[in-house]
Amino acid sequence: MSSVAPWRTPVIAGNWKMNRGPSATREYFRHFKARWAPRADRTVLFFPPAVSLSAAAEMLRDRPDIGLGVQNIHWEAEGAFTGETSASMARDAGARYALAGHSERRHLFGESDEQVARKVAAALEAELVPVVCVGETLEERQAGRVEQVILRQLDAVLAVVPAAAGPRFMIAYEPVWAIGTGVNASPEDASAAHAILRRRIAEHAGEATAAAIPILYGGSVKPDNAAALLGARDVDGVLVGGASLDPASFAAIAAARPG
Ligand code: PEP
Repeated sequence: MSSVAPWRTPVIAGNWKMNRGPSATREYFRHFKARWAPRADRTVLFFPPAVSLSAAAEMLRDRPDIGLGVQNIHWEAEGAFTGETSASMARDAGARYALAGHSERRHLFGESDEQVARKVAAALEAELVPVVCVGETLEERQAGRVEQVILRQLDAVLAVVPAAAGPRFMIAYEPVWAIGTGVNASPEDASAAHAILRRRIAEHAGEATAAAIPILYGGSVKPDNAAALLGARDVDGVLVGGASLDPASFAAIAAARPG
């Protein structure tokens, strides 16, 4: 866990997807650390590929203000699951967070709501903070089904999170049509979706927990739209894909003043 209380400050998270092996990871953090000094008013997280976690952890040994997470885990602790990474292995490599249900996992690799929920349970068991991704496709938005889709995805996860667990996880609202397209959701649309999610968490775990759970927005966040998105009601941070691959862009997003 980073030394910053992640529940209180805007969360700026970078998802590198399948980019940056160990050497490029070391190079990245040489640049990023020079551009980003510890700040108590931001929680900065990175999700490098699993194979680069140890290199990232080594580079961040002197920067406990920067957290690390794994992009995907299997729900079993170990065994005959070729190519998979368990939550405890990711933790051993330096992860303290775990993405679950990223839309690329759901849509390219066929992950179901039930599998995402099992991954969340495994992350909690290994004391990783799950960052649960939900979001509708363009077709679903055009059909007026945003609420139905994101609540179905959230409910599957809430079913495995004990209501008494408190704010031990984060949500990322990532509309599929905004990921990697250059078209971000408007701050108003992001707020509306986040409010729906927070209301459901309140029904499940109470108002205090719902207020403490960071709900991040993800989808084509860039230095020039970060301030407006971070300033939107109910938006507690951003999950950044493409723009997190450039240390200068990501540092600019992290430094954006919610507008
Ligand atoms: C992501 O991968 O989670 C993401 C939001 O990507 P991008 O910022 O490139 O749209």
